Amino acid sequence: MTDTAQVQEHALDALAFPLVWRGEAAACAEAIKAHDRFVVAAHARLDGDALSSLAAAGLLLKALGKQFALFAPTGVPAYLGFLPLPSIPVERIHRLPFKAGCLLALDCGTPSRLGEELSALAPDLPCINIDHHVGQGMGDVCSLVKPEACATAQVLASVIYAAGVPLDRELAQALALGIVTDTGGFRHDNATPAVFALASRLALAGADIYQIREALDKNETIGRFRLWSRLLGRVELKENGRVAMCACTLKDLQETGTTTEDMEGLADRMRDLKGVQAACLLREQEPGATRVSLRSSAGVDVNAAAASFGGGGHVKAAGGTLRMPLAEAAGEVLEALRRHAFAPKAE
Ligand code: 5GP
Ligand code: MN
Repeated sequence: MTDTAQVQEHALDALAFPLVWRGEAAACAEAIKAHDRFVVAAHARLDGDALSSLAAAGLLLKALGKQFALFAPTGVPAYLGFLPLPSIPVERIHRLPFKAGCLLALDCGTPSRLGEELSALAPDLPCINIDHHVGQGMGDVCSLVKPEACATAQVLASVIYAAGVPLDRELAQALALGIVTDTGGFRHDNATPAVFALASRLALAGADIYQIREALDKNETIGRFRLWSRLLGRVELKENGRVAMCACTLKDLQETGTTTEDMEGLADRMRDLKGVQAACLLREQEPGATRVSLRSSAGVDVNAAAASFGGGGHVKAAGGTLRMPLAEAAGEVLEALRRHAFAPKAE
């Protein structure tokens, strides 16, 4: 490495790994070093940050000489299939190659989001939790939760740094995916100076952010176009134009030959409507059950609304499931938004 690159690395390290996290990140790295036979898992229905964290954690454990298995009960979504993984993810507990010694939970929020099998097993396993969701009760060994982080990948990067594992190209590429997806391509307000410094540090280590963007964007299908045109044409404005709502039935997916993956990004698009402060995308999961995706802007707290019906997430992006049909769920979510998202906060 040239002297200039080394100087650049040191300068970026100082900016990219927030000073205030370092003590806790070091404790988390020590906890990882003290365990073995890791089941590494993120929330089911992996998104970019969850897969990114899963891959990067696997690479970290590999570098530390640990036994590990990546656990992904719902598999890797096709649109994220371009990211190389350190091992093939296991979908069922009985397929684990060893008796689990520690659960490394990533980007998960609550144990129930680990999927049925692993959430049943989780109480019996020592758990190290790394996340940026304000969650509940995970990580008896160690819990490193930073809601101010743009992505779990950002928090994990600080643990990797604290563990003294060098950022090679593979690790940098894995981390970059989560940073790119959870900041909406560096467009959200969670793209802080530290995030740009980290992105720069990862690029210096060989991450190809352009390739990630290309792989994510040049991925449209005709089915997805048909689905989006159908659903965007159905968006309704409520609450004097402050709320945009739309519902997707199982039939919509069937008739356009699409899957739920093809809905990724649609709720964000609905939030772009002028005047809209909260977007709500409802999806018929099965007859009598509705998945809800919420997005907001202008300080509207959709996490509070989602929490009121058992879901969760972040202030600007949250979700949950309602055990009721679409039409009924629409009324319920609207009421939750009125009561919890828009209502002035009590002192
Ligand atoms: P999405 O709308 O993309 O499914 O989810 C948006 C955000 O809400 C994600 O960051 C995710 O963490 C959170 N979220 C979605 N569904 C649930 C849920 O059922 N429970 C909790 N706690 N969070 C959720
Ligand atoms: Mn995330």
